[in-house]
Amino acid sequence: MEYLKDLLLNIFIICSPLALYYYIYKIKNNKLLYRFCLYVLFSLAIITTMSFPINLNGLIYDFRSIPLAIGSLFGGVQVSIFLYATLLLYRYFQDSPNDWLYVLSILPSFVVFIFLYKSYSSLSLIRKITVAIIYCTLIKLMTFSIYLSVTGLLDLLVNKPGVTVQTYILQGFIAGICVYLIEMLHRFFMMQEEIVRSEKMKIVGDMAASVAHEIRNPLTTIKGFIQLFASADLDKDKRLLYQKICFEELDRAESIIADYLSLAKPDPEVVEAIDVHQEMRYLANVLMTYANYNNIQIQVMTEEEQAFHIQGDRYKFRQALVNIGKNAIEAMQSGGLLELKTMISDQHAWVILSDNGSGMSSDQIKRLGTPYYSTKEKGTGLGTMVSFGIIKKMNGKITVKSEPGAGTEFNLIFPKAN
Ligand code: ADP
Ligand code: MG
Repeated sequence: MEYLKDLLLNIFIICSPLALYYYIYKIKNNKLLYRFCLYVLFSLAIITTMSFPINLNGLIYDFRSIPLAIGSLFGGVQVSIFLYATLLLYRYFQDSPNDWLYVLSILPSFVVFIFLYKSYSSLSLIRKITVAIIYCTLIKLMTFSIYLSVTGLLDLLVNKPGVTVQTYILQGFIAGICVYLIEMLHRFFMMQEEIVRSEKMKIVGDMAASVAHEIRNPLTTIKGFIQLFASADLDKDKRLLYQKICFEELDRAESIIADYLSLAKPDPEVVEAIDVHQEMRYLANVLMTYANYNNIQIQVMTEEEQAFHIQGDRYKFRQALVNIGKNAIEAMQSGGLLELKTMISDQHAWVILSDNGSGMSSDQIKRLGTPYYSTKEKGTGLGTMVSFGIIKKMNGKITVKSEPGAGTEFNLIFPKAN
């Protein structure tokens, strides 16, 4: 019983870095911070497993080689060096005997690591698991063999063969499960990112026709004025006026293109204070082309004079609002009005998007945000899921009021920043 308790505790300790894997994944682009966090998590796991060894029928052992192996394989050479150093240092502070002998015994496993590490990240899942199990086993086997043969106690390694083999199998099994879980989490997060990215590109694609259409208007105007310029009897004032109109039209075309392109830009993923008024103006501009194309009016209502902010990733926030606004426009097949409203209280900021389109029944509202739910011929059914995910990550709340045939209102409530 005692053995089982210790074993479960150790499994829990070793798997604990996985609970924080999401946060580690988020910072993977910042190499230094990523490695540092991996080091901290796995070194804590090493220290804790060393502090709570397991007693299996008189054979005392611990699982230090699992966090050491996995941290090294996923973190790389620097992390590995620090993990080895931490292990040795902690062993020294535990007052274990023969410090230098232990250092010499464990070092060959580091050489093995250098060989294994090079191609580790490009291996298939099965190979990754196999390599981790082999490396884990080698750390323990090599260290013990060298250490015990020098101290003349090599028979300790074989005097309880059944129990010894059991520890190796258990260790391999736990290491394999750990690698499997890390890889699965990694794939899951990567897939989520991919969905967000592909939904973004879908919006960009859907809006391309309306942007092209919207740009044709200023071009036609400019073409007309250029023809006018050609006529000789144009006085200077008229010439200046026409020139001004031409420039204004060009600016308009330029800003339509700029807004459209910024929708497709890769997201820098920074959390910052977002000026809500500014974003509503952006949203109205971006949706305007799509709305015009579909014969729909947009009205922005921001009563508050003072600027106010919410916390989040600006580009993701845009993506969320554009998704919801685009759905509203698509729900108004025969024209209508899309209202964009903001409100504030002491602690909260509201963003409200309402349309007078087809509306939804309560069953349809319940299915909003679930993957692949779409009533459109070419819909993906991922737009609201992505939007809701982004809003929830910003600690926002979503309520949807809708009536079939009358229209829909999306209420988004965010905590106000500062
Ligand atoms: P898609 O737009 O690709 O269909 P979404 O996840 O964006 O996928 O939307 C899912 C479904 O929710 C839509 O197909 C539509 O039936 C419904 N929906 C979303 N917003 C509205 C709205 N404002 N009015 C009516 N129906 C809506
Ligand atoms: Mg949609």
